[in-house]
Amino acid sequence: MNILERYHAMDYAPAPESRNEADAWLAERDFSKALFIGGEWKAAAGGKTFETNDPATGKLLAKVSDAGDADVDVAVAAAAKALPKWSASSGYARAKVLYAVGRAMQRHQRLFAVLESIDNGKPIRESRDIDVPLAIRHFIHHAGWAQSLDKEFPDHKPVGVVGQIIPWNFPLLMLAWKIAPALAAGCTVVLKPAEFTPLTAILFAEICERAGVPKGVVNILPGGPDAGAAIVNHPSVQKIAFTGSSEVGKIIRKATAGSGKKISLELGGKSAFIVFEDADLDSAVEGLVDGIWFNQGQVCCAGSRLLVQEGVAEAFIAKVKTRMSRLRLGSPLDKNTDIGPLVDRTQLDRVRGLVAQGASQGAECWQPDCALPSAGYFHLPTLATGVAPANILAQEEVFGPVLAAMTFRTTEEAVELANNTRYGLAASVWSENINLALHAAPQLKAGVVWINGTNLFDAACGFGGYRESGFGREGGREGMHEYLVAKLPLGAPIKPAAAPAKIEGVDGEGLGIDRTAKLFIGGKQVRPDGNYSLAVADRKGKFACEVGLGNRKDIRDAVSAARACRAWGEATGYNRSQVLYFLAENLSGRADEFAARLVQLTGASAKAAREEVELSIERLFSFAGMADKFEGRVHAPPARAVTLALHEPVGVIGIVAADEAPLLGLISLVAPALAMGNTVVAVPSQKYPLLATDLYQVIEYSDVPAGAINIVTGKTAELAGVLARHDDVDGLWIVADSDVCKSAEAESIGNLKRVWTSSGRSVDWTSDLVGGEAFLRRAIEVKNVWVPYGD
Ligand code: NAD
Repeated sequence: MNILERYHAMDYAPAPESRNEADAWLAERDFSKALFIGGEWKAAAGGKTFETNDPATGKLLAKVSDAGDADVDVAVAAAAKALPKWSASSGYARAKVLYAVGRAMQRHQRLFAVLESIDNGKPIRESRDIDVPLAIRHFIHHAGWAQSLDKEFPDHKPVGVVGQIIPWNFPLLMLAWKIAPALAAGCTVVLKPAEFTPLTAILFAEICERAGVPKGVVNILPGGPDAGAAIVNHPSVQKIAFTGSSEVGKIIRKATAGSGKKISLELGGKSAFIVFEDADLDSAVEGLVDGIWFNQGQVCCAGSRLLVQEGVAEAFIAKVKTRMSRLRLGSPLDKNTDIGPLVDRTQLDRVRGLVAQGASQGAECWQPDCALPSAGYFHLPTLATGVAPANILAQEEVFGPVLAAMTFRTTEEAVELANNTRYGLAASVWSENINLALHAAPQLKAGVVWINGTNLFDAACGFGGYRESGFGREGGREGMHEYLVAKLPLGAPIKPAAAPAKIEGVDGEGLGIDRTAKLFIGGKQVRPDGNYSLAVADRKGKFACEVGLGNRKDIRDAVSAARACRAWGEATGYNRSQVLYFLAENLSGRADEFAARLVQLTGASAKAAREEVELSIERLFSFAGMADKFEGRVHAPPARAVTLALHEPVGVIGIVAADEAPLLGLISLVAPALAMGNTVVAVPSQKYPLLATDLYQVIEYSDVPAGAINIVTGKTAELAGVLARHDDVDGLWIVADSDVCKSAEAESIGNLKRVWTSSGRSVDWTSDLVGGEAFLRRAIEVKNVWVPYGD
């Protein structure tokens, strides 16, 4: 055997991590009392337990108490009791607690890592070098947010008692992403770990005891879906933070509709890994190993769809196969292991089923020739080629070590293929040309884009999705907002629209030549599809005018027009600001007319009407000014990279305005949406729609591109429902009665659009709080683009 042959024949000797400490910890605990409530360890009231097993062997690790409804009640009560003192304590006091938690975790870092690997199956290199250090970083990072809260987030308060539900793929890391910002914001929490992986959450509860977290501030309830549902539905929980499947995310969105609960959903993904022909292919292969085989592919943002440019596809796939042949499957506690077992038999069966289905739909599924361990839930790394875009492996989240590969020719095609998914969590772009990479990144519908990298995370950088990958961000400034509520001047409940009174007689006042107010769609005044009209009464109840009665098809046309208006989203902030200034200028030129209209319809005094018009102009001016100022940030994570937190428009936003302040209320919502580059489908006040229809001409001669603003008059409840159900509407803002708000939230689950409602209350549109950042923040998605630097 020559030296080269010897070199190739060399193998790794086993390098096992000791599990003695972890076994001792397991042996010492009474897991039948594993509910951590109000600082005490309790058994489940119903006496039930569930098993958690070692996925590498299938052996039982512990029988853990299984929380039920009664336990959720007690835990929520404990969190509610602890809330006033915790939220009123100084930022410094909370910072010290968060810091102490981080430090205590550091002292038990290896135990956390070994327990995580035993319970979840992830290789010890990952739990030791990534999950646990990153979890610790979250607590230490958030100590700073706790201390600077009042300065950094004026006009905000903690949301209250928070219910947090996490999955099994990053048990400790997801816990840290949830608990650290909640505590920093002054909230108290009830957290439910996933039923496959409760152990590190139990160890974390012990850390809370040692680090001096006040009793009741953190409550940990191991349990299953029923306990999760009980947390979601509990009336004393003010916010739900959920990470898990899109399916359960939708159940939670529906269950919380109308409750006023704030929710954030971190859901599934089908992220693209795009390799351009000028990429450093060897680096890209290593990135891909991290992208799809990290944690056995059980990663929400796994780069599970490889898109490789045709010219290099063959060479790249050959390199990938060679690298796959060298991946080492084995014990999660062996430091040489690249791929451990899947978390459970059910997950293994699911992945096998999807691979078989993908193959039956024409994909060629290749696996390296390597031995599988005799026990445990192992699945070979799998590469599927010849995958059609509609193949199940290209569309469904497999959540296993399975890569679906496709090719593309042009950048446009790469972007199109990457965006051909209902998800929008992450994407990786590989190219040595930074211009090309930064050209592609903004076009990708994903909350995180890694350039020449993958699976990079940090406590300072927001993480979260677009579309059905959920809403809300975890980490950084954006993440803090998920646990805070901005003060908004909400007023009295809005009464449901009464059946229209019969309009008798004509006042004649201000009518002039008969006018037909149509709808405003795609920059044109158009007749309503149904050819019906709605009579509008003046302040005396007499006939004033008729407006178009919009229906489902009109909303459909308006949404298409809004979607087609790409010019607005692509315009610079400066361009948009000029258009908004011009709108303000032109409205100002007709201020008398609008004031007279307000007097005629609403019965407002001349002075009040004038004030509403002036404030509307001022608000347009103010959002025009913010169009090029409410910008993103640059983060400096502890890696050789900068992270660009870009503010991108949400997309098409439906806006439903109320009767109160019919001009100012409409403009206060439309202006921030437009300022941030969204296009709008607005349903104005049902009672006073003429204030909106009078705006058509102002819009027409203010250089607003066709389709940027669309206005459909008609019945609020009906049109709000159509907007909520429309899967091409990305965001929905509604000020209406509580029934309309509730149904819109419940009906928005088709595409998980971002919905804000006034929860059935009126809004004081004259307040400065309305003109501030509250709506600008709702008008954007934050996309974090990671850009590495250095040789
Ligand atoms: P899952 O949705 O089945 O379960 C997640 C959690 O929700 C578990 O704790 C479970 O007990 C609980 N749960 C289940 N049904 C519930 C209900 N009706 N009400 C309340 N709680 C309920 O997901 P999973 O299989 O455990 O995890 C895998 C999923 O998580 C994948 O889809 C993955 O993409 C997603 N994930 C997303 C992120 C992210 O940040 N976007 C991170 C990790 C995992």
